[in-house]
Amino acid sequence: MSYSYDDQNIFAKILRGEIPCKKVLETEHSLAFHDIHPQAEVHVLVIPKGPYVTYDHFAAHASEAEIVDFMRAVGDTAKTLGLAPAQAEGGSRILSNAGPDAHQEVPHLHIHIFGGEFLGRMIS
Ligand code: 5GP
Repeated sequence: MSYSYDDQNIFAKILRGEIPCKKVLETEHSLAFHDIHPQAEVHVLVIPKGPYVTYDHFAAHASEAEIVDFMRAVGDTAKTLGLAPAQAEGGSRILSNAGPDAHQEVPHLHIHIFGGEFLGRMIS
């Protein structure tokens, strides 16, 4: 897939404040907010603020500060929601769809965090 970033995608608009979101956590380089169509009792998205399309695009081009911030934001978001396995007996699942085969709908890197209920073996 192409790595040319479309700054008209919905998450770019959320980052610019043009579209509202239900924020969970914000750091210097990352934003976490509730998914508009939750597929689990708790369904949150964590995105980097930089213009990255997929996880491999991010890993290849983001600064170390952005990468550390994003990884911490994913963990801290789960913790904030009470889904970190050390806190919740139930645990959680993280997932990132990349490209057409995975049906990536929004071309801005996002990690889904699912939890708050029994998830079974797979959710997508
Ligand atoms: P993907 O299929 O790209 O992995 O997931 C995109 C996710 O973004 C979907 O779960 C979808 O519900 C969510 N989404 C799409 N538009 C919006 C929006 O405007 N606001 C929020 N909060 N989530 C959105």
